[in-house]
Amino acid sequence: MVPSPTRIVGSMETLVARLREIVGVQWCYTHEHQLRTYESDGLLQYSALPAVAVLPGTAEQVQKCVKACADAGVPWVARGSGSGLSGGALPVADGVLIVTSRLKRVLSIDLANQRVCVEPGVTNTAVSSAVAPDFFYPPDPSSQIVCSIGGNVAENSGGAHCFKYGFTTNYVCGLEVVLPDGELITLGGQELDPPGYDLLGAFVGSEGTLGIATKVWLRVMPAPETVKTLVAFFDSTHAAGEAVSEIVQSGVVPGAIEMMDRVAIEASEAMAHAGYPVGRGAALLVELDGAERECETRFEEVVAVCERCGSDDVRVARDEAERQLFWKTRKAAFPAMGRLSPNYFVQDGVIPRTKLPDVLEAIDVLAEEYGMVVANVFHAGDGNLHPLVCFDGRNEGEAERAEELSGRILDACLEAGGSITGEHGVGVDKKKHMPKMFGEADLDAFQRLRCSFDPAGLANPGKVMPTPRLCGEVPGIYRQHPLEAAGLAERF
Ligand SMILES: Cc1cc2nc3c(=O)[nH]c(=O)nc-3n(C[C@H](O)[C@H](O)[C@H](O)COP(=O)(O)OP(=O)(O)OC[C@H]3O[C@@H](n4cnc5c(N)ncnc54)[C@H](O)[C@@H]3O)c2cc1C
Repeated sequence: MVPSPTRIVGSMETLVARLREIVGVQWCYTHEHQLRTYESDGLLQYSALPAVAVLPGTAEQVQKCVKACADAGVPWVARGSGSGLSGGALPVADGVLIVTSRLKRVLSIDLANQRVCVEPGVTNTAVSSAVAPDFFYPPDPSSQIVCSIGGNVAENSGGAHCFKYGFTTNYVCGLEVVLPDGELITLGGQELDPPGYDLLGAFVGSEGTLGIATKVWLRVMPAPETVKTLVAFFDSTHAAGEAVSEIVQSGVVPGAIEMMDRVAIEASEAMAHAGYPVGRGAALLVELDGAERECETRFEEVVAVCERCGSDDVRVARDEAERQLFWKTRKAAFPAMGRLSPNYFVQDGVIPRTKLPDVLEAIDVLAEEYGMVVANVFHAGDGNLHPLVCFDGRNEGEAERAEELSGRILDACLEAGGSITGEHGVGVDKKKHMPKMFGEADLDAFQRLRCSFDPAGLANPGKVMPTPRLCGEVPGIYRQHPLEAAGLAERF
């Protein structure tokens, strides 16, 4: 049935008519009950209704939709699977949402050259499936069965295996992009490190503010000869943190080192039933991959380090089924927290790995000060923390206190020499923290980069930058540039 628009007025009506012509009426949603699906991403604390959600079926349709928005001067937001945790895909109220979920084709596979080309709506897992069993795509967010490659590119997503293999940015070699004025361009290509400025690098991690990726060329890796996985249990995160530092300092490069604390173990065990000992202070999941003989020897070293650091319970996966169970338990940690707490904020801070024990202790102290439960489940090898701050949104003021506590945890990360985000992006959630990391001159440089892609400011406005600014507007008192005075340049 063709929905009749309920909230559209004026020039938006003309724009919607044009969008319907481009994608077909059935892929252009304007009813409130249809739009509610898209009002938030994984950060449920923020929501907004777009005037229209449009689901193009080809890159050409994306291009026409963006051009239509540019002509109408209407802001738009790109959305992949909506699993982001920083509000990056939060719609602009009464703007346009461009959803890539129909762009799901694997366009080409060239295993001889370790390249795959996909549309942006392809899920992360589908890339590895497309090249299995001899190859795989290493960056593996825990949301990998749902999150899209377009979203991964925009967030420069990480995952458990990024400690050894690197992040999304290390695997994207080319992008086809629709710029905010509707122009279709290609950044990079099949080869690595093309000459010229690294505009591809600028686009990866730009959180939907520079354009929409419509085609992604990815590098894939040969599957390792062997994989060995263990889970070691400790009395405290402090002891497990010491083990992480010692493993890495010994020269072993695990495929993954993941940690869960007592609360996270309890939540995950209730969901995955892996037989984990509820009540233990920390679980460390360590995976080694590579040549069989090297793995065997190094694995023994890792077991010895865990025992030396206080683990009296080291479980080695006996087969692939048990390995999958270990991973299921780790990857269940975020959703499983819903069993223990009605609401929670997922924080995403980074610290130098050696500071793990100190910062985890600081988080405990803060949790006690606020009288709130904070669970920790994270990529320990990268020092990428994910404190989950639990609260009950039905209690007056609790959400605000949880947000304040999340902010203080980020402050602790910064004090330890870290960062306000490791992989979830700034989005709308962290933009207020940007000035803690970047000075006015840095933010101004970011703004100029953004403006060079999107002078009209229509792509995902209100995200990343702490204070919305128009292109050409400089902070502080306006001073005319000598080139302007000479009539050789103008602000736009
Ligand atoms: C349970 C759970 C576990 C998670 N674990 C991890 C993890 O381990 N590592 C990690 O990094 N993240 C993790 N995430 C966060 C999230 O899954 C990632 O950020 C993911 O990359 C988002 O992909 P998406 O398709 O859902 O993007 P969306 O949420 O739809 O969008 C994210 C951003 O990308 C932009 N965007 C989307 N598509 C495009 C495009 N084609 N071109 C340009 N911009 C685009 C949007 O505008 C938005 O700014 C987790 C999330 C959940 C819910």
